[in-house]
Amino acid sequence: MDIFKFGGASVKDADGVRNLANIVRNYKKGELLIVISAMGKITNKLEELTFAYLAQSDKVHAILDEVKHFHFNLIEELFEEKASAVYDDIANTFVEIDWLIEDEPENNPDYIYDQIVSIGEVVSTKIIAAWLNESNNKALWVDARNYIQTDNTYREGKVDWDKTKQIIQKDLLPLIHQNIIVTQGFIGGTSENYTTTLGREGSDYSAAIFASCLDAEALTIWKDVPGVLNADPKWFDETEKIPQLSYHDAIELTYYGATVIHPKTIKPLQNKGIPLFVRSFIQPEGSGTAITKDNNPLPVPSFIFKVNQALISIFPKDYSFIIEENLSNIFELFHQHKIKINTMLNSAISFSVSVDDNEVKIAELTQALSAQFTVKYNRGLELVTIRYYNQQTIERVTVDKDILLEVKSRHTCQMVMKNKA
Ligand code: ASP
Ligand code: MG
Repeated sequence: MDIFKFGGASVKDADGVRNLANIVRNYKKGELLIVISAMGKITNKLEELTFAYLAQSDKVHAILDEVKHFHFNLIEELFEEKASAVYDDIANTFVEIDWLIEDEPENNPDYIYDQIVSIGEVVSTKIIAAWLNESNNKALWVDARNYIQTDNTYREGKVDWDKTKQIIQKDLLPLIHQNIIVTQGFIGGTSENYTTTLGREGSDYSAAIFASCLDAEALTIWKDVPGVLNADPKWFDETEKIPQLSYHDAIELTYYGATVIHPKTIKPLQNKGIPLFVRSFIQPEGSGTAITKDNNPLPVPSFIFKVNQALISIFPKDYSFIIEENLSNIFELFHQHKIKINTMLNSAISFSVSVDDNEVKIAELTQALSAQFTVKYNRGLELVTIRYYNQQTIERVTVDKDILLEVKSRHTCQMVMKNKA
């Protein structure tokens, strides 16, 4: 059995949906479960809708209309005159949002977010399942919320692996023997049947959960790039595709910010030894990248850029050393303020970290730290991480840059830098 995952970019229009159906048709190996995200940038729109509703802005209905039209237009383009059944199904699904926004928001905002934003995945998979059937691929739509069981941490649902695995094995596995299964990424359900989401870009993670619980042979993530590249083409002119990558390197690269796969995806696959293929939906015949347990080192150095970094430097006011006690207080405050440390370095009496710049959160953290520490910070910086670095690669990325902080381990070099004045 194989698991396929298609993200929003692969199904952003009618051609994308037709292309997905072709990829599925050309798959001749056997049982298949397909995990799909919301179409195009619909999740962003639904987020906008949620925030407008929470603020009781008069834009709510205009945004919802835009989301509805996008899907209805797509249905018309795909199905032409025979669209009525899917059309009704999608219209009924949107009624859930119509009802919710009729009343004033009283519930927890994160709960409201999940009930609204999840609809993007529900409608996308319904349209695509209908199209697969229309184009002679026998497909069955299933609701991921019945299988992926989470706690009620809305917007960041924590998966109950035991329950999820049990339900998938008992109720979903028998269905896969007869049909191609189409289901949603990104969403789950609580024990009280409320919808949760797993965090933005979480569909890859969903696909890994299904792969793990079904003991799939492989997971294939279909992307708009030929595979995992050694740098993001957004920042680098010359990139190379990496044909094979170890789980270990894949985790390191995603942890440092490579966006090609969601960082939570690898662990469940690694634990079961399930290979992950990253392939291009634009050139599906290409071989892509295989992420497997084979521990070959990366064939080329890999670069990961993060912009909009703030470098925070923390000094104990009483000139005490930065040792265990100070560090544990500092880490506790970062944890409480939900600020993720991208890289860090300490000296005798200072501790420096690079974090994604978020003015509000950093101001709150600084306030909390200031009882014990003097805090300074620098903004507008870049963080580059080079995995399998050498002097040449360091020189390549530091042209015209001042380096504010540099951290090296055997395989990884991280530098926080800014443009030379
Ligand atoms: N649709 C969700 C998002 O855009 C999940 C995903 O695409 O992975 O964040
Ligand atoms: Mg997406």
